[in-house]
Amino acid sequence: MKLVTFERGGTPQTGVVVGDHVFATGFAGSMIDLIAAWDDLRGKIETAATKGERHALASVHLLAPVPRPGKIFAIGLNYADHIAESKMETPQHQVWFTKAASAVNGPFDPILIARAGQYVDYEVELAVVIGKRGRNIAKADAPSHVFGYCVGNDVSERMWQHRTAQWSLGKSFDTHAPFGPWITTADEIADPHALGLRCFVNGQKRQDSSTRHLVFDIWQQIEHLSQAMTLEPGDLIFTGTPGGVGAAMEPRQFLKPGDVVRCEIDALGAIEAKMAAEE
Ligand code: MN
Repeated sequence: MKLVTFERGGTPQTGVVVGDHVFATGFAGSMIDLIAAWDDLRGKIETAATKGERHALASVHLLAPVPRPGKIFAIGLNYADHIAESKMETPQHQVWFTKAASAVNGPFDPILIARAGQYVDYEVELAVVIGKRGRNIAKADAPSHVFGYCVGNDVSERMWQHRTAQWSLGKSFDTHAPFGPWITTADEIADPHALGLRCFVNGQKRQDSSTRHLVFDIWQQIEHLSQAMTLEPGDLIFTGTPGGVGAAMEPRQFLKPGDVVRCEIDALGAIEAKMAAEE
């Protein structure tokens, strides 16, 4: 199933995408509420996907599928080619940073270049949405804690990221955590470690890889994170970006107002944003 949060004048609501249409679920709660109650709601949502109020997908505004995740964690240096272009060593331990929940952005909404942060770069990433709450989750159990998958862009302000040892501020500018366009539920993805992912800027391909090249795979990531913190429904994990970022090009290329950034992942769809200067 493909689940969205959308608005069509008025309050955001959840929906199911089928072809070019979105069917309202009729569920009163948020996507996090829906994920938390999924075992009970699933049948009702499947019914809504054929009988719910129907809108053309093009006529609604898609928000990020989880508009306000409880937490967003992202792993750095997790594809060999990106580690090499960053002139870093392969990390012995998983390198984690947070992205602020306030950085979440809709899948087709503009990404802002802030007055104080002009060195903005893209990073296409597989984003994992947690389903079942858990702590100290073993690798073997990790798949049962995944609700689904999205296309993410770990937008990064490189000066703020690299002028200090801690990356979180440079990764947390407003609008710098777009993801979507929907959550593809995990049952539809036979192998999340075999998905091609690509990023284009103004139609030029900049990144082109596969999740089979992850250094630490998704299950290792969930095992590791959950040793420190309880993972909860709707939490979001950005799983790392492959090589090809603008900061590693020669000369370095950063995003400018008017640039169009498209991130796509096999079977999960695409998100696309126009860059805009902050007013
Ligand atoms: Mn990243």
